[in-house]
Amino acid sequence: MIQTVQGLIPPEQLGFCHSHEHLFLAEGQPEKLNPALRIDDYTATLSELEMFQSLGGKAIVDAQPLGCGRMEKELVKVSSQTKTHIVASTGFHKLAFYPHNHWIRTFSMEELKEVFIHELTVGMYIGTDSHLPKEYINHKAGQIKTAIDEKRMKDSEKKWFIAAAQASIETSIPIMCHTETVEQGDYLTDLYIKLGVPPRNIIVCHLDRKLDNIGAHKKIAEKGCFVEYDTIGRFKYHDDELEVEMLKQMLEWGFADAILLGLDTTRQRLKSYGGEIGLNYIIENFIPLMHRRGISQKNIEKFMIKNPAIAFSKI
Ligand SMILES: [Zn+2]
Repeated sequence: MIQTVQGLIPPEQLGFCHSHEHLFLAEGQPEKLNPALRIDDYTATLSELEMFQSLGGKAIVDAQPLGCGRMEKELVKVSSQTKTHIVASTGFHKLAFYPHNHWIRTFSMEELKEVFIHELTVGMYIGTDSHLPKEYINHKAGQIKTAIDEKRMKDSEKKWFIAAAQASIETSIPIMCHTETVEQGDYLTDLYIKLGVPPRNIIVCHLDRKLDNIGAHKKIAEKGCFVEYDTIGRFKYHDDELEVEMLKQMLEWGFADAILLGLDTTRQRLKSYGGEIGLNYIIENFIPLMHRRGISQKNIEKFMIKNPAIAFSKI
């Protein structure tokens, strides 16, 4: 079963799914790092999702965890209003996303684990950007977002990762990993597997930001983890032609069942916020390009429907 904000659904009900988006992001610390990380206009997100729905979109994984701008009440509301399946995130982001005195920095491993498990089995906490996790709603998160960067990789303190791994093992819910280099992806998947997380419950994001070492993607997929590509239509990194070439290489190596796609949207890119890409982009632009470059309909259905149905289900 897949745990959406409205409850459990059988995997076959998930449908066409973007595996990494940001539907809402409250004002606060993330916006201080980058103004594009504020997505807090309910009506605008609603109309973006209505457009996605009108084109056949059915499901979205929202990758913002608690404590750094997740808008859990709005996720629940927009999901019920548009009948979109939304999977929300517990877990933690890069520590730069939290003020210096934030609880996520000071909680012990046990406390972090308890918070994550509560969000996955009882309900999501509210107000955690500025307050300790206490009040909650009766709607649960369905994945554990985690993030590694250069600093965390060198840091011997691994309490956040151990807490996430233990919460995943206890609940059978998948872990999603924000990574910034392929080396971090390799390191973090090894760490989680060593801690006992089944590889099938590990999803690695953003590996496609740089395409100079696709062999490293292969190595991660060979461990049995999912690779989630979300640098589609992000032209400051590379164009979509290169993205398709990379996908074709992964298909040639036999990893059709390991690939998930998303746009990792920000305010700057969402159409309803004045951006150019929009949640229509994969359906209206990228899928036609994949077809033109010879990727089969069967494989596209795997990326968008079959693989997410497996990746986000409890095992
Ligand atoms: Zn993201």
